[in-house]
Amino acid sequence: MPSLYGMEIEKLKGVGEKRGRLYRKLGAPTAGDLLRMYPRAYEDWGSPQPIGETLLNETGVVRGTVLRKPRETRIRGGMTLYKTLVTDGAEDLQLTFFNNRYIPMLLREGETYLFRGRVTGSLLRREMSSPEFIAEGKAKAIVPVYPATQGLTSRMICSAMEQALRLLPEQVQDPLPESLREELGLAGLGEALQGIHFPQSKEELALAKRRLVFEEFLVLQLGLLHMKSGRSAENLHPVPEGFPEAFAQLLPFALTGAQRRAITQAIGDMAGPAPMNRLIQGDVGSGKTAVAAALCWAAAQQGYQAALMAPTEILAQQHFASLSALLGPGGVRCALFTGSMPLAQRREQQARLAAGEIQLAIGTHALLSEKVAFRDLGLVITDEQHRFGVNQRSALAGKGAAPHLLVMSATPIPRTLALLMYGDLDISILDELPPGRQAVSTYLIDPPKRQRAFSYIQKHLEAGRQAYLVCPLITEEDGLSLMSLEKYRDIVSRAFPGAPVGVLHGKMKNSEKEQVMEAFVKGDIRLLLATTVVEVGVDVPNAAIMLIENAERYGLSQLHQLRGRVGRGKHKSACILVTDAQNEDTLSRLRLFRDTRDGFKIADADLKLRGPGDFFGARQHGLPQLKIADMANDMETLLQAQRCAQEIFPRLSEPEYRPLRGEIRRLFQDGNQVVL
Ligand code: ADP
Ligand code: MG
Repeated sequence: MPSLYGMEIEKLKGVGEKRGRLYRKLGAPTAGDLLRMYPRAYEDWGSPQPIGETLLNETGVVRGTVLRKPRETRIRGGMTLYKTLVTDGAEDLQLTFFNNRYIPMLLREGETYLFRGRVTGSLLRREMSSPEFIAEGKAKAIVPVYPATQGLTSRMICSAMEQALRLLPEQVQDPLPESLREELGLAGLGEALQGIHFPQSKEELALAKRRLVFEEFLVLQLGLLHMKSGRSAENLHPVPEGFPEAFAQLLPFALTGAQRRAITQAIGDMAGPAPMNRLIQGDVGSGKTAVAAALCWAAAQQGYQAALMAPTEILAQQHFASLSALLGPGGVRCALFTGSMPLAQRREQQARLAAGEIQLAIGTHALLSEKVAFRDLGLVITDEQHRFGVNQRSALAGKGAAPHLLVMSATPIPRTLALLMYGDLDISILDELPPGRQAVSTYLIDPPKRQRAFSYIQKHLEAGRQAYLVCPLITEEDGLSLMSLEKYRDIVSRAFPGAPVGVLHGKMKNSEKEQVMEAFVKGDIRLLLATTVVEVGVDVPNAAIMLIENAERYGLSQLHQLRGRVGRGKHKSACILVTDAQNEDTLSRLRLFRDTRDGFKIADADLKLRGPGDFFGARQHGLPQLKIADMANDMETLLQAQRCAQEIFPRLSEPEYRPLRGEIRRLFQDGNQVVL
C-alpha cells in the first residue's frame, strides 16, 4: 500500500487537525496505518433477542418498533430527557435518552430499529437508557469496535476506516505473492482488510484474521532471519573452551545443574567460530545473574569488557551490588552507569571505561549514551529483556566489534513460542531453582473474604514484613467493575491505619517511580499499592505478601511474575488472589495457577487456554510493535508462517517479493538495522 502509507490521515473527510493528532497518537499517521489498526472487538448486531428474553444488567440487542413519538421532559440541572416505548410484538421496552434533541427526528413512530444497550428495570418492565440504535435493514450484523480515545469515538474511526477502504486501489500491492496465497489458501490483502474491519460473517472474519496474522508473522520472522544472517560471521572475542571452574570458586553457593548447563552452553558459543547470540530463559529466582557473572568473568579473563543493561535504575543498582561483591574479589573492576549519577563521576567513569580500566559496566539506558565508549566491548548482556527493544539491544552491541550477546528473560515462554519470538537467538533454559527455596503459599478468595486476608497481612506487617497490593486500574473507569488504586487507597488506609503506604503505577514519571521503589526497598513504605509495573524483577526479600485484586484479569504467566516478587528471602510468603469471577473456566484456570509452581508449566497452560496472542500482547518481548496480538489465537498459523519464512528467506531478493521486503522494512523501521 505504498500510496496509502504516503497519504496523511488528515486527507480523510472528517479528520481535521485536532482529530488528526488523536489518530497519530493511536499510531495511525496515514491512511495505510489506519487500515492496519484492527478492531479490538466486534459487536454482534446480527441476532436480536426477543425483548422478553434479554437478561437484566447485561448488554442486549433487540428489534423494536417505535410505539409513539419520543416525548421531551425537562428535569433538574438543565437536563432534557426523551422517553419512548418500543415493542417487538410480544413485549415492550422503555427507552430513555439524555440531552439529545435529535432523538424525536431519528426515531420515527411506526418504524423499526435495532437497539443495543444495557438492559435495566425489572423483569416486568425492561428499560434501556441511551442505547445505540440503527434502522432495521441498515444494520450490519457485525460492527467493529476500535480502541477509542477521548475525542475520537469508535464510530468516528469506523467512518474514517470506510473511506480508507474505499481508497484501497483495486489492485493493491499485496506483500504476499499470489502463488503463495494460493498454495496456503490465504485471502488477498484487500479482501482481508475489508473482512477484518467490516466482516459480513464470522467465516469471513476468520479468513481475514488468518491471512493478517500469517502476514505479520511472516514479516517478523523474515526480519529476524535477516538480522541473524547479517551478523558477523567471525568471533573476535574467543574465550577458552570448557566450564570456568575458577569462577565457580568465587561463589558462596554451588551452582545448580541448570546453571552449569547454561554456562557451559554459553561458554561453548563464546569459544566457537561465531559470536554468541543466546537467550537464557529462567524462572524468577532461578539464578540468571550467576550465569551472567560467569560470562563476564570469562570475558574479563581475556581482557574483554562486558556491559550489562537493566531496565530500571533499581535493578541496575541491585546487579551492581551483587556482581561487584562477587567479581570484585576475582579481580574484575565494575562500575555503575545511571542517569542520576553526578556528572563529574560519570565523566570520570566514562574515561576509565574508554581506557579499559573498567571491565564490567552495569547500568540502565544510560549505557546507550554516545558518551559511553568502550576500549574493547566483548560481551553485551541485557536483563529482563522484554523491556528492551531489539533496537536497543543492537545499539549497545554497536559499541563493540561484534560482541557476544546474551539476553536474559524472566518470562517463561513455551519452547515453541520462544523459537518464534526469538528466532534470531539460541536458547538456554534454567528449569531448576536453587535448593531450599520457600514455596509461596497461594490462596484464591472472593471479595467477602478480603477482610480476613487483611488481618493476615496485618500479622505479617506486625512481624516486620512488607506487602504488595496489586490492582488492575489506576482510577475508576465507567462500566468496569474493576478495583482501582484510587479506591483501594481508601480501603487500605481504613484497614491498616497508620501503615506507611506507597503507590506505584505506569503513568508516574520514572523519577517518581524510582523514589517510591527505593522507599519500599528501604522499608520506609510497608504497603505498596501498585499496578502490574511491579512485575519487573525487583528484589525485596522482606516483602512476603502479594495480594492481587481482580486476579481473573491476568494471564497466568503474568500472575506468575507477580508471585515471583515474594518468597525471595527467608520469610514464609504468600500470594493471595482475589476474584469475584463465577465463570467455571476462569476459576479452574486460577486453581491451576494456585496449585502449580513451575513457570514453564504455567506458561504452557496459558498457551493452551488463551492462545499465543497473550504472550505477544503482554509486550514482554523486545519485538517491534505487533498488531496481531489481539488476534493471534491460532498457533498453527504462526508455525506455518515460520516454516514459510525459512523457505522464502533465501529467495527474498527476487522481484516477486519486493512488496514483502517493503513490509519488513516498515516493521523494523525504527531500528534501521534491517537493510534489504
Ligand atoms: P533471577 O533468575 O530471578 O534473576 P537471581 O539471579 O536474582 O535470580 O537469583 C536469585 C537469588 O538466588 C539470589 O539471591 C542469588 O544469590 C541466589 N542464587 C542463585 N543461584 C543460586 C544457587 N545455585 N544456590 C543458592 N542460591 C543461589
Ligand atoms: Mg534477575
